[in-house]
Amino acid sequence: MRTKYLIIGNSAGGIGAAEAIRQVDREGDLAIVSDEAYPAYARPLISKYLSGERTLEEILFRSPDFYTQNNILFLAGKKVMRIEPGRQSVQLEDGADISWEKLLLATGGNPIFPRIKGSDKKGVFTFTDLDDAKAVDRFLDKPRKAVVIGGGLIGISVTEALIKRGVDVIVVEMKESILNTILDQQASLMAEEVLSQAGVRIITGHTVLEISGRDTVEGVILDNGDAMLCDLALVAIGVSPRSELALEAKLEINRGIVVDHHMATKHRGVYACGDVAEAYDFVYGENRVTPIWPNAYVGGRTAGLNMAGVTAEYPGGMAMNSLNYFGFDITSAGIPTAPNDSGYETISKQEGNIYQKVILKDDLIMGMIFVGNIEKSGIIFGLMRDRVNVESFKECLLADDFAWHSFRGRYGKSDWRHHQI
Ligand SMILES: Cc1cc2nc3c(=O)[nH]c(=O)nc-3n(C[C@H](O)[C@H](O)[C@H](O)COP(=O)(O)OP(=O)(O)OC[C@H]3O[C@@H](n4cnc5c(N)ncnc54)[C@H](O)[C@@H]3O)c2cc1C
Repeated sequence: MRTKYLIIGNSAGGIGAAEAIRQVDREGDLAIVSDEAYPAYARPLISKYLSGERTLEEILFRSPDFYTQNNILFLAGKKVMRIEPGRQSVQLEDGADISWEKLLLATGGNPIFPRIKGSDKKGVFTFTDLDDAKAVDRFLDKPRKAVVIGGGLIGISVTEALIKRGVDVIVVEMKESILNTILDQQASLMAEEVLSQAGVRIITGHTVLEISGRDTVEGVILDNGDAMLCDLALVAIGVSPRSELALEAKLEINRGIVVDHHMATKHRGVYACGDVAEAYDFVYGENRVTPIWPNAYVGGRTAGLNMAGVTAEYPGGMAMNSLNYFGFDITSAGIPTAPNDSGYETISKQEGNIYQKVILKDDLIMGMIFVGNIEKSGIIFGLMRDRVNVESFKECLLADDFAWHSFRGRYGKSDWRHHQI
């Protein structure tokens, strides 16, 4: 089979690219291959599916007829085994060969699965796709006890879903605090308090060495020798770029697939985006893997436009998360804690259940955390994204009456970066 455009991956990055291609080229043959069997769904919502708050239809982010409406050949449930950039072709698991003119790798991430003795037992799950959520769902036929290994974003979102399903949950986090990649110590303690009030037991500073039981999970043993009973173990350590296809094809890989501002790899006609790619992060000023949904979608759009012949630049992304656990709002972006470096300045305030913090360097916002009251986080995020120099009004960034009008006149229109992507 031949196609002009081939996209591997049917999620944020893949769909972003397909939509951008179709904006420019309505006719060129376009195929999307996915080893998942579902139309595009919002991966962050698989916890809502597990908790029973959303059905499959309610987590789809494009309607099932999106593909026919856009003249896209959707090859669902098909795995790409090999890409050959030199021959401009890929091979599928079923033996089919597809040749392409432009290829996008939007293959996302693989769940990280550390060596844990006994992890092959029935009752051990990861939680990164809809099939994982379905598998856990099938297992929850009676009240259970679960140990969630990893207190990051995935671990805490599955914890909330399990609690809503009536499961007792213990979270075991190796570092000293949960959500430590996006929150500082203070915000993390507040999140822990909310989880504890919801009945979650949190153990930090330890890890699980062994999953005990015969064929089925009966408990876990921690690195300090403590044993706890459970019949479900969720491994939620995080994801790593799913770059094995690129590796075998000898594309340049650092932590993720290396791309330029056009999301192009060094191999002509081959692009990458999303969780598998290492794209420009404007907070750090370098290419990094920043595995979040908006970055994948915008990176996909950038790749798609370039694949269809329109020159477009990725505006840059950054780590950004907006969460609501058990009704408690948290927004964070950029760096959560200022490095021990005199160039950084931290402005923060705490009142009861509200905590807000902004980190500055050279009067540019490098990071922010809003907990409890996130109302003003959008403005701060806008200033951060647009690289606005806040020197003249930084003292009021966290003031209760801070608003766009606080700096009108000092933040002229010419300062805006226009995001055409
Ligand atoms: C539980 C959970 C909660 C999350 N919460 C948030 C959140 O609150 N906010 C946020 O911004 N982000 C969140 N994320 C991250 C977000 O989902 C990802 O950043 C985003 O989905 C990345 O999109 P992507 O297109 O790069 O890849 P993915 O969504 O990972 O999709 C890649 C697709 O490619 C397919 N694929 C891979 N290799 C092959 C192959 N060889 N052949 C065929 N198909 C292949 C995969 O099966 C998959 O369907 C969450 C992720 C998880 C797992």
